[in-house]
Amino acid sequence: MTSESAALYVVPTPLGNLSDITRRAEEVLRTVPWVAAEDTRHTAPLLKHLGATARLLPAHEHNEREAAARIVERLCAGEAVALVSDAGTPAISDPGTRIVAQVRAAGFRVIPLPGPCAAVTALSAAGLPEPHFLFYGFLPTKASQRRQALEELRPLPYALVFYEAPHRVLETVDDLTAVLGHRTLVIARELTKLFETVYACPLGEAAAWLRADPNRQKGEFVLLVSGNQEEGDQGESDRVLKILLAEGLPVKQAAKVAAAVTGAAKNALYDRALQLKG
Ligand code: SAM
Repeated sequence: MTSESAALYVVPTPLGNLSDITRRAEEVLRTVPWVAAEDTRHTAPLLKHLGATARLLPAHEHNEREAAARIVERLCAGEAVALVSDAGTPAISDPGTRIVAQVRAAGFRVIPLPGPCAAVTALSAAGLPEPHFLFYGFLPTKASQRRQALEELRPLPYALVFYEAPHRVLETVDDLTAVLGHRTLVIARELTKLFETVYACPLGEAAAWLRADPNRQKGEFVLLVSGNQEEGDQGESDRVLKILLAEGLPVKQAAKVAAAVTGAAKNALYDRALQLKG
């Protein structure tokens, strides 16, 4: 038997394609006596499909504290509980964070299962060059707050990963373009479903692409934006400048050679070389 008594299992469920449930997730959902679900009406058909007979407990964003207390009661009674959200991994832009914290604070084990997550699925097909990413989830819905949040993200060299609802995707892409400027955008839509689309383009062309066909604005979206390159470029020219200066080249000559190697502007490199030397 997979499920150990008196533990909370965090169980990812499919994003769309039912075959994406893992064998371990199936086993846990079939074995535990209780499933805490974001929307019990949504999860009931999945349990039925799996032949699972667990009883359902509601655990949504408006009752997380009470749900956690009920889950801890079940655990105190020696019963295992599985936590699921409507789709993907619980606690990732979904209810669950408070529940796992309260369960652990009560001294019980929280056992996470790996499985579907829209952000990671999208990243795996995005082909963005950055070795690091920042998962942001949903941006604020108010335009001014959204732009402010994007201003704060703008200097970061990491790929940025956002979730967005279909009715806001166009305005968000407009704001991404206005604030972040020249970047690559990858639109990952309806992952694992019939109309799955992964489309990459310059950020400045994305709004026109979405507007060209209203169907392109339908469904569920992950938006991925390449990171700020300026930091990276400066890192490379700094590296070259430092080597040349360490070899004893005068500032002017170091800037000239570094400009030839990196393609950066000679004047900017001259100023930077003076700084580095200073
Ligand atoms: N916990 C989930 C996860 O692990 O990905 C995310 C839940 S969040 C409430 C729902 C958002 O995830 C959607 O608005 C969309 O941005 C993204 N999403 C979920 N399923 C998706 C799919 N099949 N294709 C693209 N994005 C998806």
